[in-house]
Amino acid sequence: MEFVRIYKRVLRLLVPERRLTITLSVANVMLAGLHFLEPVLFGKVIDVLTQSDKRSEAETWSDAVKLLAIWGVVGIGGISASILISLHADRLAHRRRLAALGSYFEHVLSLPLSFHGETHSGRLLKVMLNGVDHLFGLWLSFFREHLETFVIAVVLLPLSLFLNWRLGILLIALLVIFAFLASTVISRTEQAQRSIEGYHSQLAERAGDALGNVMLVQSFVRLQAEAQQLGEVMRQVLSAQFPVLTMWAIVTVLTRAASTITVIAIFVLGTWLHMHGLASVGEIVTFMGFATQVIGRMEQAMGFLSRLFFQMPGLAEFFGVLDAESTIKERPGAVPLENVKGDVSFEHVTFSYDGKCVAVHDLDFVAPTGTVIAFVGHTGSGKSTSMALLHRVWDPDQGAIKIDGTDIRDVTLESLRRNIGVVFQDSTMFYRTIADNLRVAKPDASDAKLERAAILAEAHDFILRQPEGYNTMVGERGVTLSGGERQRLAIARAILKDPPILILDEATSALDAATEARVQQALKTLMRGRTTFVIAHRLSTVRNADLILVLERGEIVERGSYQELIARQGIFARLVATQLEITNDLDGERPAVLPPG
Ligand code: ADP
Ligand code: MG
Repeated sequence: MEFVRIYKRVLRLLVPERRLTITLSVANVMLAGLHFLEPVLFGKVIDVLTQSDKRSEAETWSDAVKLLAIWGVVGIGGISASILISLHADRLAHRRRLAALGSYFEHVLSLPLSFHGETHSGRLLKVMLNGVDHLFGLWLSFFREHLETFVIAVVLLPLSLFLNWRLGILLIALLVIFAFLASTVISRTEQAQRSIEGYHSQLAERAGDALGNVMLVQSFVRLQAEAQQLGEVMRQVLSAQFPVLTMWAIVTVLTRAASTITVIAIFVLGTWLHMHGLASVGEIVTFMGFATQVIGRMEQAMGFLSRLFFQMPGLAEFFGVLDAESTIKERPGAVPLENVKGDVSFEHVTFSYDGKCVAVHDLDFVAPTGTVIAFVGHTGSGKSTSMALLHRVWDPDQGAIKIDGTDIRDVTLESLRRNIGVVFQDSTMFYRTIADNLRVAKPDASDAKLERAAILAEAHDFILRQPEGYNTMVGERGVTLSGGERQRLAIARAILKDPPILILDEATSALDAATEARVQQALKTLMRGRTTFVIAHRLSTVRNADLILVLERGEIVERGSYQELIARQGIFARLVATQLEITNDLDGERPAVLPPG
């Protein structure tokens, strides 16, 4: 059963603190035994009292003293066990909660971009926070309630048969009926609850998506539409939730009824047995005690079951994320890539995102150490995809990519990515200071190094214009900076990282011509001695590339140097001509739109 499986897994997360867990469990079992002993002692006392007129005073007293002494020991034992549990169970749960949060966080961050492309960060956050809260609650109630209930139900209740088997059977029979009813309700509503959890995740996803795109929401006046769509999901949550709540209300009523019915039944059967000499008054009192205790426990257990049941889909989702495996796996025995020269080769590389539509097909080329390779082609032709394959965001379906002759799947991911610097068209930033954002590339970089990199990337001046210079906070994902500013910070990051292989994916696309010219200068310095892959829209920037690869629908359709390709009068030459035309048109029109004079 799914239920049991997940509960087991929840408890297994306590394994790192095995000794404490076991100690607390033993204390719990002790507590259960002691709680069970109390009604037995109570019954014995009653028997001593009811028989006192048939026995001597001394006998009665000695029996009473013995019983009271045992009761004293039981009381002290119970108190010590409770203290131990209340002192340590909470601390344990708090520690494990944070540990679970930490491992979820690390795991999610290590999952490949393909996973994150499919799962919204809002959902991941909700699953994490809900999941660890559920875990926390379950661990606490495990030590405070569940274990004791379990011991009473499974071990001590059968033992009651030895006291008076007729009354024992009655009690057990009533409990079995009760458990049957409860499990029926659970299985009835399981599916519904899972869909409810799905709606909750959708809520988090929608809200997270809207909050992360405030600009979009406001500029397209989407406030009402977004709120309405969220309201729609909320309505679905409620309409799915209400029937489940009704079922559980029925269970609560049943539990209450069960308690009254059980006590009455024991009273009636007990009286009958007593009149036939088959049960003492003390035994009846003991079973009454059992009944109230056990039913109290059952109510608790139902509360727990309902809670666990409501939380289970959330936990399942939590574990689901933890179980998500990286599609980009390190081979066993992967070695770190060291002393990289930067000799890159693509050998008949083919890749498709969805298994149907080919994104790149049969890419085959060599980039010797220190050369500049330019990718040119219409948008969607597979330029970024080729580069994503190089730093292993995905693995090729066919063919291989090698660095210095080693297949990149045979080296550790960490070392591969440490040796490749990437500047994207759309560089994002952490919600931290500019300095912190630059140090992402090199945590131990000195202030002087930071500045030098910023100067080279033409970023220093605008950084100094910020209210607090290098210590200015950058908005979420960098929204307080312009696209060009972000690009220059990204270039500074690449300069700091100082990798032997560099990927510039439309790295200067957001810069105006003048700034781009200056940044190009910096890039030229940066590119010296490194193998560089340049993807650029402005074809003038690839003029100096050693090799230009023209891509069309994922295939290389032309290759050669700038001069060679122009001379060939093919696709590349046409692309260049079109760009020149556009530029000339713009230049030609400009005076016309300017006011005379
Ligand atoms: P370019 O960088 O040349 O503009 P891309 O390499 O980004 O082109 O895209 C190549 C093709 O792959 C396009 O058809 C694009 O729609 C598709 N594509 C890109 N990224 C993804 C992705 N994460 N999932 C599925 N398809 C993608
Ligand atoms: Mg691209």
